[in-house]
Amino acid sequence: MSLAGKTAIVTGGSRGIGKAIVQALARAGAKVAFTYHSNSLAAESLLSELKGEGHEVLAYQADAADKAAADKLVEEIVEKWGGIYVLVNNAGIIKDGLLATMSFEQWQAVINANLNSVFNYSQAVTRPMMSARQGRIINISSVAANFGNSGQANYAASKGGIEGFTRCLANELGRRGITCNAIAPGFISTDMTEAIRNAAEDTIKKQIPARRLGNPEDIANAVLFFASEGASYVTGNVLTVDGGLTLGAGM
Ligand code: NAD
Repeated sequence: MSLAGKTAIVTGGSRGIGKAIVQALARAGAKVAFTYHSNSLAAESLLSELKGEGHEVLAYQADAADKAAADKLVEEIVEKWGGIYVLVNNAGIIKDGLLATMSFEQWQAVINANLNSVFNYSQAVTRPMMSARQGRIINISSVAANFGNSGQANYAASKGGIEGFTRCLANELGRRGITCNAIAPGFISTDMTEAIRNAAEDTIKKQIPARRLGNPEDIANAVLFFASEGASYVTGNVLTVDGGLTLGAGM
């Protein structure tokens, strides 16, 4: 699959799933701009890895919850590269806690980073994508949107919100040649799941028919599909990538 001549923006691209998505899009031939929150060392290291392979990649330090920063970044990329073909809304955090003791800050931080960020970048790319009459918006949700995990009311609300938002955008933008889909990962080995993996990796694996945790590359492969020319008639979907976890048939 080739994305040669295409351009992409990935939020939260310096590590974990976002990093694998940046690598996959760049290696498929796209020019990729990614944002990161604070770890400039990780961002620099990814930049030099991909530039060393001959790919055109840019990194921007930006809080995805900052609307003005999103508008500015998208404007800069459009000016530099002439347009944006793929947007991957990947940035996300967890701040778990039972509702009875969850602070409003815990709630707000997760909604800002996970859901408001999706509004910010999707709205910023909509105009250039509409003028080009093509585009791919790909949102990283989670199986937690539907699980109802105790302690994740903020996270589940943000991911459920992303899935509804995805369907609305698919409807609004379909006639302009723009697709909008979401991916719902299960348990993926990244920093985000480190604590729970340390506490219960073997138990988790038993609940997954594939008997392994997912790799960031498993999610990047799904992104490549939605970004591909072959997926031009696929929109408004949530693709679960979880090794069968949500079938509930493990153990
Ligand atoms: P991670 O913690 O390893 O990486 C998250 C990335 O998002 C980091 O690069 C971080 O800097 C960035 N980020 C966070 N808040 C940001 C902000 N406000 N502005 C800009 N960047 C920000 O986590 P991950 O596992 O790679 O998660 C990536 C996405 O996948 C998230 O949306 C997460 O909710 C989702 N997800 C992960 C899993 C999993 O099992 N790891 C499962 C389901 C969904």
